[in-house]
Amino acid sequence: MHFTHEHQELQRNLKRFIDSDINPYVDEWEAAEMFPAKQLFKKMGELGFLGIAKPTEFGGLGLDYSYAMAMAETLGHIHCGGVPMAIGVQTDMATPALARFGSDDLRAQFLAPAISGDAVACVGVSEPSAGSDVASIKTTARKDGDDYIINGSKMWITNSLQADWMCLLANTSDDPAHRNKSLIIVPMNTKGVSVGKKIRKIGMNSSDTGLIYFDDVRVPQRYRVGEEGKGFTYQMLQFQEERMWAAASSLATMTMCIEATAEYARERKLFGASLLDNQWVHFKLAELKTEVEALRALTYRACDLYIQGQDVTELASMAKLKAGRLARIVPDACLQFWGGMGFTWDNPVSRYYRDGRLGSIGGGADEVMLGIICKYMNTLPGKKG
Ligand SMILES: Cc1cc2nc3c(=O)[nH]c(=O)nc-3n(C[C@H](O)[C@H](O)[C@H](O)COP(=O)(O)OP(=O)(O)OC[C@H]3O[C@@H](n4cnc5c(N)ncnc54)[C@H](O)[C@@H]3O)c2cc1C
Repeated sequence: MHFTHEHQELQRNLKRFIDSDINPYVDEWEAAEMFPAKQLFKKMGELGFLGIAKPTEFGGLGLDYSYAMAMAETLGHIHCGGVPMAIGVQTDMATPALARFGSDDLRAQFLAPAISGDAVACVGVSEPSAGSDVASIKTTARKDGDDYIINGSKMWITNSLQADWMCLLANTSDDPAHRNKSLIIVPMNTKGVSVGKKIRKIGMNSSDTGLIYFDDVRVPQRYRVGEEGKGFTYQMLQFQEERMWAAASSLATMTMCIEATAEYARERKLFGASLLDNQWVHFKLAELKTEVEALRALTYRACDLYIQGQDVTELASMAKLKAGRLARIVPDACLQFWGGMGFTWDNPVSRYYRDGRLGSIGGGADEVMLGIICKYMNTLPGKKG
């Protein structure tokens, strides 16, 4: 993936916005365990940041996915993980399937306001009894006349306390589990949608995470994204962008983590020398930097092939797996070199230590990524199918 002048211009503009409109407020939002999604997304929508790779007919910029990757990478400059994750849900997790498979009416009604920042979106896949095993979700959408009637619950839903609509995965028939699901857009103010609770977490604190109940929620069948019964497939495709986004957005944060630690270790004097003068410390940071660059190469390669229209399920899963692993290894190793300072709440590295822990769980746990990679290994020539 080659970053052109246009990519760099986009990154410069976004970085300026982050420095003026996000980073000064991050500590306040982390303490409040909430950030003002509606106000922030409105500003971002006006600047064109919420529809970079989305169709121009609905207000997007119509650029290829490398620009979305450039944006994801730049979001890593935000001084916490929660706000970038919430933005990523809006741009790369709740909207890709709608943009690709939704009818024009549906896209005009729900995608256009998500791109302009007039609506906050969330994606509802996980449930109290089904996270990794997406096929076993229990939420149902039964036909009644021209409507669906939805019953069930969705758990861990990012943005759900502030969202205007949810891209919901539900069972729409009794067919086998991979062919009985549909994605349906559900306005969150529909009668029967309620917030069970706001979930408190060890990290990603500025991002709101909810348990949402659906009790006889009636929505028109025309709110379904694409074909009935294709929801599982659409969601798996949607996950490709989510997983590449997760990998790209971790790069700058991990780099910042390593650089800040090197800087601190250079200044910190012990036993008559700088901490960084210990070869172990300097070598360790050099090794971590190398790992991050290797992840960058893998992520860019996945993105290149995705732009060419190839199935990047395997590479995107590898990038997500590697990002999840490094999001634990890098801050843990860095935190060690800060000594007691690393163990304090407000230290930037300790925040990434807490926020980064989600990387191996959310959007498909490491073991789920390994399972996907194994499936692709089995299809290699000479191996059992
Ligand atoms: C902060 C946060 C935000 C989230 N946001 C959203 C969101 O916006 N929308 C949404 O739909 N979901 C969201 N999730 C849910 C997330 O995707 C799930 O937590 C994740 O998929 C794991 O599901 P689970 O928690 O039910 O764990 P389980 O499915 O119960 O898995 C538990 C553990 O089992 C292990 N495991 C899983 N599969 C295998 C296997 N095949 N072999 C061996 N071990 C395995 C893994 O270590 C896994 O962590 C969010 C979660 C969190 C914590």
